[in-house]
Amino acid sequence: MKRWLSPLTRFHSLRWRLTFLYLGLLSVLLVLLGGGQYLAARELLFRSNADVLANDYRAVATSFLKTRLAALNRLTPPTPAARLQQTLTAFAQELRSRQISAGVFDLNGRYLTFQPATLAPDTPAIVLPPSDYVAAVEQGPRRYYLTSAGDPPATYLTSLEVIRNGTRPIAIAQLSIPTADIDRTLAFDREIALAGSLLVLLLAALLSPLVVGHALRPLEQMSATAGALAAGDYKQRVTVPRTRDEIGNLAFAFNQMAAGIDQAFEVRRRSEERMRQFVADASHELRTPLTAIAGYLDVLARRDEIDPLTLHDALEAMKRESARMTRLVNDLLTLTRFESGRGPSLRPVPLDAWLNETLDELDLQSQGSPERRSLQRGIVVHADPDALKQVVINLAQNALKYAPGAEQDWSCFSENGRAAIRLHDAGPGIPAQDLPHVFERFYRGEKARDRSAGGSGLGLAIARSILEAHQGSIQAESSPGRGATFTAWLPLAA
Ligand code: ADP
Repeated sequence: MKRWLSPLTRFHSLRWRLTFLYLGLLSVLLVLLGGGQYLAARELLFRSNADVLANDYRAVATSFLKTRLAALNRLTPPTPAARLQQTLTAFAQELRSRQISAGVFDLNGRYLTFQPATLAPDTPAIVLPPSDYVAAVEQGPRRYYLTSAGDPPATYLTSLEVIRNGTRPIAIAQLSIPTADIDRTLAFDREIALAGSLLVLLLAALLSPLVVGHALRPLEQMSATAGALAAGDYKQRVTVPRTRDEIGNLAFAFNQMAAGIDQAFEVRRRSEERMRQFVADASHELRTPLTAIAGYLDVLARRDEIDPLTLHDALEAMKRESARMTRLVNDLLTLTRFESGRGPSLRPVPLDAWLNETLDELDLQSQGSPERRSLQRGIVVHADPDALKQVVINLAQNALKYAPGAEQDWSCFSENGRAAIRLHDAGPGIPAQDLPHVFERFYRGEKARDRSAGGSGLGLAIARSILEAHQGSIQAESSPGRGATFTAWLPLAA
């Protein structure tokens, strides 16, 4: 089931939120990267141009200035400032070139001479703030300076060099080139970076909704499947992506949850089915005595005069039927009590002594069944004696009913950490087709069904639910002609 989202809601979806977040992050990163790259390239270009200026200076200074200053120093008496000025002006003319303008300043930053580049004779005088010249003499010049001059103003990259006579600073040389070429290179670089970034952003804007959508598809499928589950289709599952990432794990967990729900509903459905069956069976069982009683009452009502014998027989029959009904209702109550999960009230019971006493009370001999006992001593179980007595009574009564007159062989023992009460009767046994069903509610073997006085089919079901409430179990074994054996297993008291 595909849910269509309105355009506004669609952009609020996780898919678009992630896409926008990703694009926003990418834009910020591109701006940071582009800005950083631009500043680094600019600095690199300025530095390499400043290095060119410094190299030019060194070449001219060694070839020209050294010899001129040496010649000046040889003059006696020392030459006046005018000769020095002439020398420095000539030096500035040597320093300048096609691109480079050169100037010489005194140690206070005052302007002595300025020689524009030969290719740009109209270059305005380039002058830095006087503090830069003073600082250059005192602390050494910076690698380069940027200043603007002229009208309209143009920017110049300037390099300063302190001119020394021996070790004594006598003036400052200044070499400048316009930054126009560098600016053009940088502008080109900026445009390339901008176009590249826009292209990357465009590609990301086109691809990221697809990529994010693909990654989130299992979530969409899960939401559709959850809807189907809510609508009652418990068999729906999602395809678990091969990648075991968070979404893969979620899909896996989702399927486990769906399987759990499916199982829980299946259990509920089966339990409801069992409950329906139980109510139908119970009603059916109750209807038989009720119908019989109604029949007797009908017969009596139709007679004008009832002889005492008929009345006595009818009342006796109705008494029998009502006793049968009471038995059935009591059995049903016992069964529901143990199946409702209310646990029996347990206490330690010494099994041999208790079974001895219970069998004595039952007095099977007087009911026509010879009986043998072999009871292992010292076994203690945790049990509800009244409930356990019900098990023994049901087993004994079955043996009396289905193996009348046959010997009942009772034993109790412990085996593999469990205690057991076992009854073997030497009767006809249980037919193979009945054996797997004897513990089912209302199940009666074929022979029992024919018997008018047969039980309700609840005796063994009650025995089983009592033992299960004790964390125990019951099993039946039989081979035709060899009698039947019932073993009730109980946990030993700690
Ligand atoms: P009921 O005795 O009321 O029919 P039970 O639940 O006690 O119901 O027993 C279920 C069925 O198991 C009986 O109908 C009978 O067919 C079979 N059964 C039980 N005990 C014996 C036994 N000792 N020998 C042969 N068959 C038995």
